Amino acid sequence: MSNPTFTSFLTALRCAETGAAHDSTVLQSVSHRAGATLLPDYDLDAVRAAVTPEDIRRRPHDLWRFRELLPLDNPLQAPDLGAGATPLLRLRRLGEHFGLTNLWLKDEGANPTGTFKARGAAVGVARAHELGVRDIAIPTAGNAGSAWAAYCAAWGITLRVVMPVNTPDPIKAECVAYGADVTEVRGVISDAGRIASERAAESGWFDASTMKEPYRVEGKKTMGLEIAEAFDWDPPDVVLYPTGGGVGLIGVWKAMRELADLGWLKGTPPRLIAVQAADCAPIVQAWESGVPDAQRPDDPRTVANGLLVPLPFAHRLILRILHETGGTAVAVHDDQLVHAMRQLADLEGVLAAPEGAALVPALTTLLQRGDIGRDERIVLLNTGNALKYTHLVDRPARPPIDPLPA
Ligand SMILES: *Cc1c(COP(=O)(O)O)cnc(C)c1O
Repeated sequence: MSNPTFTSFLTALRCAETGAAHDSTVLQSVSHRAGATLLPDYDLDAVRAAVTPEDIRRRPHDLWRFRELLPLDNPLQAPDLGAGATPLLRLRRLGEHFGLTNLWLKDEGANPTGTFKARGAAVGVARAHELGVRDIAIPTAGNAGSAWAAYCAAWGITLRVVMPVNTPDPIKAECVAYGADVTEVRGVISDAGRIASERAAESGWFDASTMKEPYRVEGKKTMGLEIAEAFDWDPPDVVLYPTGGGVGLIGVWKAMRELADLGWLKGTPPRLIAVQAADCAPIVQAWESGVPDAQRPDDPRTVANGLLVPLPFAHRLILRILHETGGTAVAVHDDQLVHAMRQLADLEGVLAAPEGAALVPALTTLLQRGDIGRDERIVLLNTGNALKYTHLVDRPARPPIDPLPA
């Protein structure tokens, strides 16, 4: 088969704080320099001339469906392992329970490795490979490690994962199975981050830390593109997102902004709502105090490992996005989110990761505060499935019985 030709529309990497443009044709990572998150910029006039929503509608349902808005030179040659094109489910029974008439769930549990981290890894690893990277180090709260391990395996790239020792066992097993080198740390993701970046600097590995590496957000952006397309380019009113490092939230925001700039959106971009765990809620605390910077909580803890990010690197950008979109931030307690795993499973047949389930109790708070309307189109972004978190799920109440004699 001949290689389909494709030319990337990527023009530069733009600093989220200063707006300065940086070269996108060479490897960039914030850890190499002081600075803030770099976000890819595209030539949207050229994209508008090259492709229409109608063209996209006829393409296969995979990540490369939106290739003009991705940073890859050779997207059609990159392994996607089946990431993306996840279902958007109407939650009728849960909606009835809350008195919400238009409640939806984008189920990222359907991705390879069971979480939306696969989208970020598909694009992040592919772009790193294009730029010549063959050794990567990644600190993770868990799921980014297994997703990057899977894609690095598919590319033949060596991956070093540094993760908290209290990461669920299935995630550790995945990383090992995919051939990653795993180091466990007695601490949280920020402790893993310090170790990973020290080792990366010593050994010349690429440091793929959250929002310090510029391309994984582009993979997660495809969630926003898919949501917009699913609503026929008239985006929902509200998207709720379980916020750890905030990559998915930034991705959905960036998707909507680029679609608006392309002139493809019929309506206004959604209000974005960050949901965090009560004992690790730096964004919620900063939002409620009305300050532009978040602070690390004293004793961060939650059973939702993906939310155990004491201070997201992109905290200022996340807070700006909540303001810009007219969104807000909500904290929920661990017992509420664990209860919500059961509620979602029981009412809808969806067994969500604790991070995704956290969005359910947030609805109660948002309704009480008048932050969402009962007839608004509300999307819960369920970031993963619960099969790595079965330690949070009840076991059968009755003891097993012995088989009947043959
Ligand atoms: C990583 C993760 C999150 C948080 O994602 P960020 O992009 O870091 O905000 C939420 N849910 C799950 C299941 C995750 O793995």
